[in-house]
Amino acid sequence: MIIVMRASASVKEIEHVTSRIDELGFQVHLSQGSERTIIGVIGDERPLDRAMFEVMEGVERTVSILPPYKLASREWRPEGSVITVGDTRIGGSRLAFMAGPCSVESRGQLLEIAYAVKEAGATLLRGGAFKPRSSPYTFQGLGVQGLEILAEAREATGLPIVTEVMAPDKVELVAEYADVLQIGARNMQNYPLLQAVGKTRMPVLLKRGMMSTIEELLMSAEYILAGGNYEVMLCERGIRTFETYTRNTTDINAIPALKHLSHLPVIGDPSHSTGKWPLVIPVARAMVAAGADGLIVEVHHDPEHALSDGAQSLKPERFAQMVHEARRIAEAVGRTV
Ligand code: PEP
Ligand code: MN
Repeated sequence: MIIVMRASASVKEIEHVTSRIDELGFQVHLSQGSERTIIGVIGDERPLDRAMFEVMEGVERTVSILPPYKLASREWRPEGSVITVGDTRIGGSRLAFMAGPCSVESRGQLLEIAYAVKEAGATLLRGGAFKPRSSPYTFQGLGVQGLEILAEAREATGLPIVTEVMAPDKVELVAEYADVLQIGARNMQNYPLLQAVGKTRMPVLLKRGMMSTIEELLMSAEYILAGGNYEVMLCERGIRTFETYTRNTTDINAIPALKHLSHLPVIGDPSHSTGKWPLVIPVARAMVAAGADGLIVEVHHDPEHALSDGAQSLKPERFAQMVHEARRIAEAVGRTV
């Protein structure tokens, strides 16, 4: 951190700042210019609160040198992380395809979709048993029964399961059934939940909050990594903007930005980021071209009767087409298929 003193700062004020830095166990690097004195704080500044210096007499402003996250940074693991889920490796050169319904609705529904997405090339099966719905009057998910159906579908197809956990006290339960714990957009900053999944050693799919910055997403990942769980994947699922035609706005920039800033694999969600099935395939193509390590896509054999997110669900044959196109694009941008 750099502390810039006011032109009018007195020797006493400068000494007060440097003695506080010393007290905190950091080294001081003093640079006396012709107009300003600049104080360098040498050491890992991340635990420091800049406001502590900003309130001191004679201080004009402070400037951070390090990003606030460390374990999530690309610097920490320049080669990039690969997450292993069953037989699938996510973050390597092959694309991961997570597909399935928004919600598990019944045994018949999930099994039908699971076989269809497997046939189409999916490498993981998604489906929510605990659903974060905007209205308390709409379908909330089948809960434990949904988890049991997911486990049965894994048994039948061999596809590992991605499913959401919404509360810290449900982590243990969901972890018994899931292969990947999904943290939904609405819970990206639920810190007790992040800490709870950080205590497990289960792969986590951390979705970006709809009003969260890239840095806030990385700080949420940092919570999980700081707990000792390094199996984290980031997910761009669209953010809120002034546009109302689409459900969210795909922040395509976030994909290469996250790959640049962090070593963690990045998954694109063209379903929630558009909210409209005709836009899903074109946006999925863009996500792969932008460097996504995989896609998570909602697929339903009967979207008209889906209990959630039918409007953005692809029919299985369209999903198969998407996988085919995504693979060709992946090849064009230097990934193996
Ligand atoms: C979902 O994956 O069905 C979901 C609820 O996603 P998000 O948290 O991104 O809205
Ligand atoms: Mn959904």
